[in-house]
Amino acid sequence: MPIVRLALDLPLSRLFDYRADDALRPRVGLRARVPFGNKEKIGIVVALPEESAVKEPQLKDVIALYDDLPPLPPDFFRLCAFASRYYQTPLGETLHQALPPALKKIPLRKSRNPKSETAPQKGVSPAHAKGSPAALPELSAAQAEAVKGVAESQGYAPFLLYGVTGSGKTEIYLRLIASALTRGRQALLLVPEINLTPQLERHLRARFPEVPMVFLHSALGAAARERVWRAAFSGAARIVVGTRLSVFAPLPDLGLIVVDEEHDPSYRQQDGLRYSARDLAIWRAREYAIPVVLGSATPSLESWQRARTGHYRLLTLPERAITSAKLPAVRLIDTRQCRLTDGVSPALMEALRQRLARGEQSLIFLNRRGYAPVLACPACGWLSGCPRCAANLVVHLADRRLRCHHCALETAIPRACPVCGNQDVHPFGRGTQRLEETLSGLFPEARIARVDRDSIKSRLQWEKLLERIHQGDADILVGTQMLAKGHDFPRLTLVGVLSADAALVAPDWRAPERLFAQLMQVAGRAGRASLPGEVLIQSQYPRHPLYQALVAHDYTRYAEVLLQERQAAGFPPFSYQALLRAEAPKMEDALSFLRAAREQSQSEAHAKVMLYDPVPMRLAKVMRLERAQLLTESFSRAALQAFLAQWRLTLEGLPRKRQLRWQLEVDPQEI
Ligand code: ADP
Ligand code: ZN
Ligand code: ZN
Repeated sequence: MPIVRLALDLPLSRLFDYRADDALRPRVGLRARVPFGNKEKIGIVVALPEESAVKEPQLKDVIALYDDLPPLPPDFFRLCAFASRYYQTPLGETLHQALPPALKKIPLRKSRNPKSETAPQKGVSPAHAKGSPAALPELSAAQAEAVKGVAESQGYAPFLLYGVTGSGKTEIYLRLIASALTRGRQALLLVPEINLTPQLERHLRARFPEVPMVFLHSALGAAARERVWRAAFSGAARIVVGTRLSVFAPLPDLGLIVVDEEHDPSYRQQDGLRYSARDLAIWRAREYAIPVVLGSATPSLESWQRARTGHYRLLTLPERAITSAKLPAVRLIDTRQCRLTDGVSPALMEALRQRLARGEQSLIFLNRRGYAPVLACPACGWLSGCPRCAANLVVHLADRRLRCHHCALETAIPRACPVCGNQDVHPFGRGTQRLEETLSGLFPEARIARVDRDSIKSRLQWEKLLERIHQGDADILVGTQMLAKGHDFPRLTLVGVLSADAALVAPDWRAPERLFAQLMQVAGRAGRASLPGEVLIQSQYPRHPLYQALVAHDYTRYAEVLLQERQAAGFPPFSYQALLRAEAPKMEDALSFLRAAREQSQSEAHAKVMLYDPVPMRLAKVMRLERAQLLTESFSRAALQAFLAQWRLTLEGLPRKRQLRWQLEVDPQEI
């Protein structure tokens, strides 16, 4: 009987052999249902070996092979194999993460071809692609040049599209997609979060009303997600728009990849296979020999460095697309020089007053949700810590709860200090809820809308609010970085930034890069149409180069400052890093596992790879698990990769306490 070699969803590098009856027509790329221990599992056939190391009597039989899908194609396997190798994650885990959940479940009944793959399905707009409708905006010279550069490229061609906020990057994407469609190819457009930018969907549907397109993201129900994925895989969908997970979607005619807001942290998967969708997009473009466009007003330093060194071709849009729209004037308010009213400076108050009088909109950015970050007792110094995490419980006054933002633990707000009984406990510090309260006290006549993950829980809520903002039914928007992403509010002329300084002194050396991108993006919401915009930033360090670069709208300048710092310190993108993380109920167990891992590596450690001492993570406890990490670093990516591949096998064999979990993270974004 033929043997099938399966990748199962297990945190182990090994593959598993089973026997499959010839009548089942075993093929690589099919899903198989197999007995595993006393359970059943779904595996993916990765090879049909001639023989197995497992001898006949032990070799178990496959229960079923599913052929409701054509076999997963070789390019899908190559991508997953690369991701598995590069991110040091077993192939089984990788393949399973790359597939929609519905395909990995054991079906109740074995179905043959439940749906034909080519017929138009719900969720896919009907076929018969015609050309795009007339009345396209005339491209600016810079836009035209960018479009031409990409359209005329041959084979693998990576581009960094660096365009200031409002420079019309979307229009470029639309043109490039149109050109891919005319060549009979599929286009993949990656976006950070689909729900945050319904405008993009509208643009696409308006521009390509006849073209079947799908939107692939994790908020879809299991059935919808499978349907959308199948449409991409069968080639029925010609445009695939999706979040990071869609970088794995098999696309038979892929001809273009666009990664919008390529700097966005949400392209990074934070558990399981910890991949960067942007980096995999680059790999995929090379594999398919097609163009890939990374777009941003604030490129990641990694991408910027690659453009500087000629690995990526740089396309620049230096000006806003709407000629009357100018970049906003950015002003710094030195908070050491003025009296704040509940955190709001007189200058910001005056600016808000003017906007209200003129009937224009304002946005106040405070990247901290909740009412206050902690509840404090002034008598004994008690703070509302989370009993399960090394973090504080955040005060949510709206529903009178204390909440941990790391483990979701919730309690009622105590009336008195649990330690000393003092009845006078105070919320300490400021979050968006408190700011909303302050502003409605200062401007009772203003219509204020708060935008954060507590106020907006669904896409529908968000769309309703966006509608409200567009109709001018909100005067002041108060919100977190949800407000910073790609929105186009024509009546918004003022952006205020409160207390952003913390990131300047944070121990995470990537924090300033993230803050800079966020502030450039949020500032970019002001003055996008004909009304001039103004940005007021409150800070204790107005002379900091980050703020100075913001005033000058000079991404390039600050990027150079940061790159020089990184180079001097030998940090990425000038070096490559990986973290070994361990968590256990006791910190000592986590640390001693890491120490053993370090010792074991001495013999394997390449001369070019540096291993640091194990240390507790900054957020040292989450959900009652203590967390520690060990940083490894090299100036050679290849050397680090070679070392990690060996080390991983050692780690799999290392003795450890039962409750200890470990994982490797390659190119970690938070250290
Ligand atoms: P970005 O994504 O670069 O921040 P957008 O793509 O949102 O900018 O474009 C900003 C605004 O400029 C939008 O209202 C868009 O319709 C408009 N726009 C883009 N290109 C042109 C053009 N060539 N002529 C006129 N308006 C344009
Ligand atoms: Zn107390
Ligand atoms: Zn917690």
